[in-house]
Amino acid sequence: MARYLQARCRRCRAENKKLFLKGNRCLSVKCPIDKKDSLLRKSPPGKASGTRVKKLSGYGVQLKEKQKLKDMYGILEAQFRRYFKIASREKGITGDNLIRLLETRLDNIVYRMRFATSRAQARQIILHRHVEVNGIVVNVSSYNVKQNDVITVREKSKELKVIRESLMLAKNYGISPWLEVDSESCKGVIKQIPRRNDITDLANINEQLIVELYSK
Ligand code: SF4
Repeated sequence: MARYLQARCRRCRAENKKLFLKGNRCLSVKCPIDKKDSLLRKSPPGKASGTRVKKLSGYGVQLKEKQKLKDMYGILEAQFRRYFKIASREKGITGDNLIRLLETRLDNIVYRMRFATSRAQARQIILHRHVEVNGIVVNVSSYNVKQNDVITVREKSKELKVIRESLMLAKNYGISPWLEVDSESCKGVIKQIPRRNDITDLANINEQLIVELYSK
């Protein structure tokens, strides 16, 4: 399976925004974006502190927006483009369709249900066959879930340290209202497919810029 190999914090620094790519570390004082005392760390990767950042062209802004969304979900270009094609063929607003397709990926759902602290960790858990959808083991991270699907951690995997630790931390983060999770039994249900406004951590994403980029 192809995957990103670029340092994750570097991607956040390039955007100067938290993309939450490293699980627990993103919520700790170790996050370089949150470090108030380190100007060097807050500068773009590869640039010295205080370097003036060039103003981006319209195309550059669109490209950056696409990169940000791709990085958040840990998706490579070809797959992201495929999602866009599907989204543009569906009824409704293409940007909303795109976000919905990304949100309903199994790795994102496992992360949102707090069985993993990041989407990257969720992919590992899925790949190692620890997750079932409606009672059947699914080891494909890109599997798209539907309303009322039941996601469970397999019986033999419930005591895995990564899963237990992640569920402990979930008490601090909370769970999205469109999901229902029973952390004791490691079971979750998709109560409804989220609408764009339900995904609050994408408030800083302007998907219309991505639509414009791919529509050229
Ligand atoms: Fe991004 Fe997380 Fe690294 Fe902070 S700790 S820079 S949010 S990946």
